Amino acid sequence: MSKDESLPWRDETLAVRAGFERSNFGEHAEPIYTTSSYVFDSAAAAAARFGGDAPGNVYSRFTNPTVQTFERRLAALEGSEACIATSSGMAATASLVFATMTQGDHMLVSRNLFGSTVNLLGKYPARFGVDVEFMAGFDVKDWEKKIRPSTRYIYIETPTNPLMRLADIKAFADMAHAHDVELIVDNCFCTPALQKPIELGADIVVHSATKFLDGQGRCVGGAVVGRQSLIEELTAYMRSAGPTMSPFNAWVFTKGLETLSLRMKQHSINAASVAAALQSVSTIQRVIYPGLASHPDHELAKQQQSDFGGIVSFEMAGGKEAAWALIDRVKLCSITGNLGDTRTTITHPASTTHGRLTQQQRDDSGITDGLIRLAVGLEHSDDIINDLIQAGNV
Ligand SMILES: *Cc1c(COP(=O)(O)O)cnc(C)c1O
Repeated sequence: MSKDESLPWRDETLAVRAGFERSNFGEHAEPIYTTSSYVFDSAAAAAARFGGDAPGNVYSRFTNPTVQTFERRLAALEGSEACIATSSGMAATASLVFATMTQGDHMLVSRNLFGSTVNLLGKYPARFGVDVEFMAGFDVKDWEKKIRPSTRYIYIETPTNPLMRLADIKAFADMAHAHDVELIVDNCFCTPALQKPIELGADIVVHSATKFLDGQGRCVGGAVVGRQSLIEELTAYMRSAGPTMSPFNAWVFTKGLETLSLRMKQHSINAASVAAALQSVSTIQRVIYPGLASHPDHELAKQQQSDFGGIVSFEMAGGKEAAWALIDRVKLCSITGNLGDTRTTITHPASTTHGRLTQQQRDDSGITDGLIRLAVGLEHSDDIINDLIQAGNV
C-alpha cells in the first residue's frame, strides 16, 4: 500500500490500491516485471540474498515483484496476513499438501469438491503415507467423530461445485480448533467479495484465480492465503518445487481484482434472474441456486455470504439425453468447463468436469446425468434467459 497503512480501507479501496509498491519511475499503474533473475551489487550481496540474510529478489521461481503485488492484494481482500500465488488452483492445493504434510498425517476432506481436487487428494498423498479420508455432507458432528490425534487439516469447498451445498465455516472452524486441527476453505465460488472464510475462523484459503479473480477467462493461476509462517513454508517449497505464477498472469489477476466486487454483484443479480426464470421451464425438474428459498442451504447462505454468487445448476427431467440436447441448442452460452467468465458458460458435469469420477463417486455426490451447470456471465440477463428457454422448451 502506498499511503497510510493504518487507515481501515474497505474492500473496494483495497481492490484497486492494496499491495502495489511504486518504483522510482513513479508509474501510476502496476508494471509487469518480466525478469527471470535479479542482479546484485557485489558477490557478497549475492551471497547474502541467496542465503536469506538480506531481503530482496533472487530468481522469479522464488519471488517476483509483479507476483508479490497480486499476493499482497489478495491477502488484503481475504483479511489475512499473507498469500502465495501458484501456477494454477490445483498447484495451490498440491503445494499446501506436499509442503506441509508428513507421513502419518491424516486429513478429513469433503467428498463434494472440484473434480480434480478429489482426484489429487484421493490418489497422490497416500503414496507418501498421508491418509486422506473423504466425508459426505457437512454435518459437523459426523466430521468431529472422525478426528484422530494425527488429523492435521479439514478441507472443504463452500458452496460446492456444482450443487451449491454450503458448509457452515464458523461451525467447522470452531470444531477444528477444539481439536487443534486447521481448516482449509476453497473460496473459489464466492471469492472474498462475497465470503470471508478467515474472518469466519478458517485458517487457510485456497483459490483458483482462473475463475472469478481473473473474471475474464484469460489465465490459469491459484493462491494459498494464510498466516505469515505458513506462507514462508510454502515460499521455501516453491523455491524447491517451482509451481510458480508467471508475472504476466499475476498482472492479469491483479487487474481482475480491481473489478471483483462490481463483477460479483452483477454475476449475482444475473444469476438470481436466471434461476427464477428457469423454474418455469417445463423440461427442467429442479433449479439449484442458494438464493432460492427452496435451496436447502438458503438460510446459511444469507448469513455467511453477502450475496448468492454466479453459479446456477439445474436438472433436466429427461436425464443425460435432455441435458445434452439443451446444451447443443444454446446459441449464446459457451459450452466450456471454465466458470467465472464475463460470458455465460454451460457445462454437463457428469461427462466433463466430473467425468473422471466413478459412477459411484458421482452418485454419492448427487451429480446426476441430467444436471447442467451454468456460470452466469455479465451479458444482459434477458438474453441469457431467452437463450436457455429456447434451448430447453422443446
Ligand atoms: C477450477 C477450480 C479449481 C482448480 O483450479 P485450476 O486453476 O483450474 O487449477 C479448484 N477449486 C475449484 C472450486 C475450482 O472451480
